[in-house]
Amino acid sequence: MMGLFYSRGEQMTDRTVKYSFDTLLIHGGLEPGPAGATTVPIVQSSSFAQATAEELEDIFRGRKVGQVYTRVGNPTTESLEKRLALLEGGQAAIATASGMAAITTAVMTIVRSGDEILASSSLFGGTFSLFRDTLSGYGISTTFVDPTDLAAVRNGINDRTRLVFVETIGNPKMDVPDIPAIALIARAAGIPLLVDATVTTPCLARGSDLGADIVIHSTSKFINGTGSAIGGVIIDLGRFDWQSDKFPHFEPFHKKYRAFAFTARARKLIHKDFGACAAPMNSFLLAEGVETLSLRMERHCANAQKLAQFLKAHDRVRWVNYPGLEDSPHHQVAKKLYGDKFGGVLTFGLADKAAAFRFINGVRLAKNLANIGDAKTLVIHPASTICCDYGPEEKGLMGVGEEMVRVSVGIEAINDIIEDFDSALNNL
Ligand SMILES: *Cc1c(COP(=O)(O)O)cnc(C)c1O
Repeated sequence: MMGLFYSRGEQMTDRTVKYSFDTLLIHGGLEPGPAGATTVPIVQSSSFAQATAEELEDIFRGRKVGQVYTRVGNPTTESLEKRLALLEGGQAAIATASGMAAITTAVMTIVRSGDEILASSSLFGGTFSLFRDTLSGYGISTTFVDPTDLAAVRNGINDRTRLVFVETIGNPKMDVPDIPAIALIARAAGIPLLVDATVTTPCLARGSDLGADIVIHSTSKFINGTGSAIGGVIIDLGRFDWQSDKFPHFEPFHKKYRAFAFTARARKLIHKDFGACAAPMNSFLLAEGVETLSLRMERHCANAQKLAQFLKAHDRVRWVNYPGLEDSPHHQVAKKLYGDKFGGVLTFGLADKAAAFRFINGVRLAKNLANIGDAKTLVIHPASTICCDYGPEEKGLMGVGEEMVRVSVGIEAINDIIEDFDSALNNL
């Protein structure tokens, strides 16, 4: 039995822990609801009353289990946290207001002024901006390296580096770093590996199998699955030893919470102080969404594979970037880590920006919007939208060209998706 860390600081064992992954998606952490309700109740309350002053003091001091205030913990959110922790093979989770809130909270739990981050150069635009533009103003600097170049990762770490941050499949670069190999490098350097697994989800590989120390998801994407809520989660795999000269600020948390030092410092300090908590209604929507994650990921991946092959054969398409294609430079690593599934996101190139715009204006089924992981097929021109604030050099690092279209392949019938793309391409 695995201990799970709860919002009030206690550990509990979960009787659902023995189930298979697909069963955990539905039952993990779910307690019977009032009147036999089978979905997690939406506890839409900001605060939680206790009968006596003594009880409230006990809860605040961590002597008794209970809720006090939704910014710190909420029963609906706690049920989601428990399930997501189980899915990754983790020991604890903190659900947050968004994926960016999860990344900010996790990183700020670890670093302090004067520290450095070693990050992948092909990050999601919001994360790139957080590291390069925001955190640099608070004395935290970031070195960006190509995460598929293991020597660059090794050489990028110095005495001040306090964490390594990578994405399982870079969004939108579609590069696939060898995470277990990077985990060994981070381990040898005595620093934790944080992995943003939004694009792959635990269906393609669990964080515990990849060797990550902390896994982060934007749950707004595949975990929600229908584009109905924004959310994020930080999952503590419990593998990293926080008792280290590099992390003196973890000392009091390690003393009291041992292997749970990271979650304790995050929950009791950074998450509480930054206040980017999950809303109970969103936690409910995310708990509903995650139930069908396996089924949806199978279809997302199968459809993306077929669409990638169709695009590759189309004479208007200059190139296709999808790790599922055998001639992708990332195919072998992706196959090793993720088996026969390569995710639901791909990019392709047309003649130029004008052609990319004509294509996006020409599709009827696919929606033109800034999201991934929706059941619906989505297209976007990253250079003019999600990456519009970056210059040519940064766009190059992120693998974003003017001619590029990003597709989040939905779970519609593949013949309808292909017909939609074919007709828009033929009318360019
Ligand atoms: C969307 C996304 C994020 C940010 O998540 P939000 O929920 O939009 O804040 C972070 N990382 C990746 C890989 C994403 O796709």
